[in-house]
Amino acid sequence: MNHGESLMVTIAIMKSAISVTGLSKKYAEHFAVENASFEVPTGTICGFIGPNGAGKTTTIRALLGLIKPTSGSLTVLGSQNPHEYLSKIGAMIEGPSFYPLLSGAANLKVLADLGGIESDRVISLLKLVGLEERANSKFKTYSLGMKQRLGIAAALLPDPQLLILDEPTNGLDPNGILEMRNLIKKLASGGKTIFVSSHLLAELEAICDNVVMIKDGKIIYSGSTKELVSNRESNGIFIEPEYAVDLNKLVKALENAGFNFKIEKLEIEVYADSTAAPHLNRLAFENGITLKRISERRATLEETFFEMVSE
Ligand code: ATP
Repeated sequence: MNHGESLMVTIAIMKSAISVTGLSKKYAEHFAVENASFEVPTGTICGFIGPNGAGKTTTIRALLGLIKPTSGSLTVLGSQNPHEYLSKIGAMIEGPSFYPLLSGAANLKVLADLGGIESDRVISLLKLVGLEERANSKFKTYSLGMKQRLGIAAALLPDPQLLILDEPTNGLDPNGILEMRNLIKKLASGGKTIFVSSHLLAELEAICDNVVMIKDGKIIYSGSTKELVSNRESNGIFIEPEYAVDLNKLVKALENAGFNFKIEKLEIEVYADSTAAPHLNRLAFENGITLKRISERRATLEETFFEMVSE
């Protein structure tokens, strides 16, 4: 490899923490994952979403070297060899399992010893995941949220550059979900790349720069969360006249101008994208109507997801 090529490889490594190309996994006659390609940019939080049985766990298991792909390639942290990259990634899949009678701290110490990791990290990791006050309580006394956070602390033991989390919010109550969200954001702000699968799409929308969407084993979207959501047709604009008596006049003006809309009490939802906002403002003004509100209605990731999987 000459200097130019090695520079290109280095740039590629920096760009994507995970690069999946044409990944397929076939069980008997059925493709669990079929020709999947996507990238997870370094230093981002990337959500992995799809209906039940779409192929998320299969993809994650392939990334972790737990199953051998039928075809395709996986590059993780610049390497295609799981033996090389596994020591640089942390993972929590299918709920963490720990010794129930040992404390959180003792469980982490056991794992640190097994992995040849300095046990000094245990205390700082327990602090990072917000378990310092319960560090010496038995694991079996932990709430589900605490168990999940201990699972993340375990995944962080080798100080990984990449964290892969399969359903970390599974079964958590709203408070547990919020704690998990804050923890994931904190980890990402410290420079780690996080690839996280979840069925809680509002959660993913709140934290993920990027999303990868999979359906029937095929990738149907991979890229920026914002771009995905802002490009959907279901976006609209809410307008509300300052005075209720102007509602009918406003409706007439919208009809004459050829807009499609829906009336909800005193508010009108106009089916148009954000570029129509100045036009609506002008239309109201020309008809002697002042608007109390003109605001964009953005489709949520959840609505976008349901539209896309039903397409
Ligand atoms: P969920 O959200 O329900 O966890 P998932 O997206 O993680 O689903 P996978 O567990 O990857 O989906 O499964 C994808 C498909 O592959 C499913 O149809 C599943 O039944 C099938 N599958 C997974 N593992 C095996 C296996 N070991 N043998 C046969 N089929 C399998």
